[in-house]
Amino acid sequence: MSPVETPIAYVGIGSNLDDPETQVRAALDALKRLPRSTFRGASRLYRSAPWGNADQPAFVNAAAAIATRLPARELLDALLAIERAQGRVRDGERWGPRVIDLDILVYGDARIDEAGLRVPHPHLAERAFVLLPLADLDPGLEIPGQGRVWALVQRIDTTGCTLLA
Ligand code: ATP
Ligand code: CA
Ligand code: CA
Repeated sequence: MSPVETPIAYVGIGSNLDDPETQVRAALDALKRLPRSTFRGASRLYRSAPWGNADQPAFVNAAAAIATRLPARELLDALLAIERAQGRVRDGERWGPRVIDLDILVYGDARIDEAGLRVPHPHLAERAFVLLPLADLDPGLEIPGQGRVWALVQRIDTTGCTLLA
């Protein structure tokens, strides 16, 4: 990456507790205030069937594009801080209901595999609730190592993920 180039990070947003639509919009507002960053755009909002553990409320999902000078690890810390500010409590249950979930989906052309940080997000290519919002932002986006968003969308079942009315 050249020193003058600011990476674009794509952040996935999800909520299925405490008025999910309001939670997602609050997270988008918080992302607009990230330090050393410029908010580039938000996807539409989607409603999606729960993933992983099906016995929980439906999710509202979205994604945002952010040009950021924060290194990926600092961006993750900032996302976790927004989650805490919105009242997310981690009880150890994976894929359970949550007030807000913010994931780094893509960070420029980076491929990161460290403890506590994997980018591109490892489940991105199999999740309609991630790929459809990404397609709103940039269908031609190249997911490092996996191809373009529009091509990935064609490989999955998107019927469980619909635009929020
Ligand atoms: P999934 O990762 O399948 O979407 P999840 O979002 O429910 O599951 P969490 O409990 O929110 O998982 O996060 C668990 C940990 O995942 C976080 O503490 C964080 O360190 C780690 N993690 C690894 N890669 C990423 C990433 N790209 N974005 C956000 N968190 C990540
Ligand atoms: Ca997640
Ligand atoms: Ca997460």
